[in-house]
Amino acid sequence: MRILVATGHTQGTHPGDYHFCIERELVWIQEPCDRDLRDPDGPCGCGRGFAGAASHRATTTAMVVDSEMSRDDVVLAFQTSLGDGGWPVAWAEDVADENLEIAARLPAGAIITRKLEHFFVRGALF
Ligand SMILES: [Zn+2]
Repeated sequence: MRILVATGHTQGTHPGDYHFCIERELVWIQEPCDRDLRDPDGPCGCGRGFAGAASHRATTTAMVVDSEMSRDDVVLAFQTSLGDGGWPVAWAEDVADENLEIAARLPAGAIITRKLEHFFVRGALF
């Protein structure tokens, strides 16, 4: 199935880009802070970021990839990640499903960016 992961591809093509994630780690979408709700292009940047499940860092670029992981594998990965990061482990299924729903709508190789709850295709790597 297709999953959404961090990527450094196309980084720097937008002035607001940042990338502190590990290439190809699972990502999830965090609620933006109040500052970013008003201005997602601002200095905080959480409103345009994807959170890395393994690194607990963030990136503005994510890519859809084909994976051997099942939904259960993705849920388990997020249970571990959320627990490690001090987030409620009970979020794991919702976080996993949001990742998989975004990935399911796009072809493998699609690179996306985010503005609050909106996602945009920036490019593709095939
Ligand atoms: Zn923020």
